[in-house]
Amino acid sequence: MKINVLTIFPEMFFPLQESILKRAQSEGIIELNIINIRDYSDSKHKNTDDYPFGGGAGMLMMVQPIVDALRSIEGEAKRIYMSPQGIKLNQNLLKELSKEDELTLLCGHYEGIDERVIQHYVDMEISIGDYVLTGGELPAMVLIDGISRLIEGVLGSDKSAEEESFSFDGLLEYPQYTRPREFEGMEVPEVLLNGNHAEIDAWRRREAIRNTALKRPELISTAKITQEERLWAEKIIRGEET
Ligand code: SAM
Repeated sequence: MKINVLTIFPEMFFPLQESILKRAQSEGIIELNIINIRDYSDSKHKNTDDYPFGGGAGMLMMVQPIVDALRSIEGEAKRIYMSPQGIKLNQNLLKELSKEDELTLLCGHYEGIDERVIQHYVDMEISIGDYVLTGGELPAMVLIDGISRLIEGVLGSDKSAEEESFSFDGLLEYPQYTRPREFEGMEVPEVLLNGNHAEIDAWRRREAIRNTALKRPELISTAKITQEERLWAEKIIRGEET
């Protein structure tokens, strides 16, 4: 997948040059094309922002450099503006976006961007949560990371993404343990050590339901679980079971 990123701070994207995403890029599974919006400014001093009409605090990113930067990208990639006003990112949206061949992400900064860009040059706005950050660069990196790990070949095993929170029948993931078997008197659950995969799967499903009921009870109503499992989860939520 190719991901174009429009930003006035291209250096901020260095975290994507580490670990799993670094490998995905060196293997050609992900291609990142970071575009500096400033390079497209028509103004003598390469300005990218100006005062908002009507007054008010802060600066606004101008329409011209953004539109010309967008036009420099060939093809029909979906254009996404990272914005606190956008639709809230979740695992289902990441899954949908991971099916695209190419995406373009626009990062705002300061007070945001000229409304004409949003109205006429972007396809959707995505928020990473109901809070306001200084720029769209961190949200864009969140989106890129979340999408990338769903693309075939990026994670060591494609099962890793299937058995995780929000993908596992709409449940949170079950608890996991690694060596040592005992640490300061705390033991790993016996069932995980006996090699019986049917028992391990049953334990994991039960613990995933328990985890979800305790930590994110609102997810139980939409989780893909049996009626019996739902009744048990509801008892946990009401505090009648542990
Ligand atoms: N004035 C804007 C408003 O009230 O909606 C907020 C602008 S914010 C300070 C600057 C930039 O950060 C935005 O243009 C956007 O690109 C990015 N941003 C901030 N919070 C975000 C969030 N929760 N999700 C996605 N992008 C965000």
